[in-house]
Order: sequence, then C-alpha cells, then structure tokens
Amino acid sequence: MNSNSPGRNAEITLFKNAARFMFAAIRDTTDGAEVLEALEQVHIEMDRTFAGSLSSDKAKVACRAGCSFCCYVAMGVQAHEVILVAIHIRETFTEDEIADAIAKTGAHRVLLGQSRMANVPLPRSVCALLKDNRCSVYEARPEVCRAHHSASVSACETSFRQNSELAGYAYIGGLRSRMFMSMLAVDSAIVEAGYDPQPYDFGAALNEVLLRPECTDRWLQKLRPTFPDSCKELSGTGAESPPMAGMSQMFARLSGDP
Ligand code: SF4
Repeated sequence: MNSNSPGRNAEITLFKNAARFMFAAIRDTTDGAEVLEALEQVHIEMDRTFAGSLSSDKAKVACRAGCSFCCYVAMGVQAHEVILVAIHIRETFTEDEIADAIAKTGAHRVLLGQSRMANVPLPRSVCALLKDNRCSVYEARPEVCRAHHSASVSACETSFRQNSELAGYAYIGGLRSRMFMSMLAVDSAIVEAGYDPQPYDFGAALNEVLLRPECTDRWLQKLRPTFPDSCKELSGTGAESPPMAGMSQMFARLSGDP
C-alpha cells in the first residue's frame, strides 16, 4: 500500500483516534478501577472496529462459535491483558473452575519452563481457557484473539494439522491492518502512560496472577516485571525484557502527538 494512499491515511487516522482515546483514558488517573474500566472499554472499541471494518469492506469471516483451530498456539501478550482475564475469571468462574484454570495454566507454565530450559520449541497445546471448543473468557479475551480472523476454515484446519502459520490468503487485508493498528494503538498508549511494556507468555503469566493477585497491584503501581516469578523462571535471570521494538517511535510518528 502506498504510504500516501487513502487506505494508509485511514489506518493512520484509526491509529491516532484509538491511541488518543486510550491515552486520555489512562493518563490522568491513578485509580486502578478506572484504568481497568478504561481498558475494558478499549476492548469493546476494538470489537466495534472489527465489526465496522467487516461491514464497510462487505467481507465475511469464517470464524464461528465452536471452531477453535486457532486456540492451540502460545501467545505473547501485555500485562494488562492478563490482568483483565484474571479479573474476569475471578468474577465469573466457580471455585472449581478457578482451580481448573490454575491447574491447566500451571501445567502450561511447567511445560514452557522445561522447553525453555532444554532450548526446544514448546509442543503445541490447547489454550487453558478453551472449554467445549469455546473461549471461556470470551468477553475478556486478549487483543490478539480479538484481532484474529480467517476467511477460510480449510486454511485454519491445514494450519492446525501442519502446526504452521495460517496461510496469508485466509486473512482479510483491510480488517487485518485495521486490527493491527488498533492493537498497536492500545499497546503504545499503555507504554506511553508508563505501564509495563514487557510482553509475557499468556498462560504462564495468567497462572501467576491467579495464584498471586498482588501482581495486579504491581501493574497498577507500574512496577516491573508485573509477573516476577514466571518471568524469572522463563528467562532464567528475572531481568526485564526490552520494550516492544520501536513502540515509542511508532507512537510518536503515527499519532503526531508531542
Ligand atoms: S483466550 Fe480464548 S480465544 Fe484466546 S486462545 Fe484462549 S480460548 Fe482461544
């Protein structure tokens, strides 16, 4: 896409609006509940962007409830996404369901630690939150799950069977770039507001916050890493990872804010 094309300009406008909305929502408050509410609202906006993009492009996704080929990959996410899922779990799951989520994310955490130690890829395994082929935290699911889509079930099945990336043709171009811009805007605003910029393994971090709810306070207090134990186990050092590459520069260039 030409850098001055109408499509590119629309994406930059989307990025600017989303980033400003998010940054304004979290910049001036130290109230944890308000920050987390703002983040929930941002996720609702992402869903609106998804639906609006489909309708304006007259495109159709093949994704349906009960189809879960895409829920078998380990995900890197930001800390706020893990915290929102943990809050949702504590508010909506029964005690038995919480214990089950802790056990499954704990098994994932151990497996991930072993694969990092042996320097081998993590074997493919199902997301701990997939239940009866449905996402059990759908309203609070991470941003990458909100943005993911496919126009071809057969491409998803092939990717699942071959343990490979989803073929490029299965993505809807305009939708994919708009969702990428939305995710970038949210993540950039989080970083610019001084919150933890480090990416975390979703399952391992979720296990830690379910066992240690004080991780949420660490995030709200802008302490790093938000999830110190799993971070230490998985890195072997406990050191903070560098911020996502070029995030600040990307924010400055695209948002035009001082
Ligand atoms: S959080 Fe939900 S949508 Fe995302 S991978 Fe897990 S089960 Fe699938």
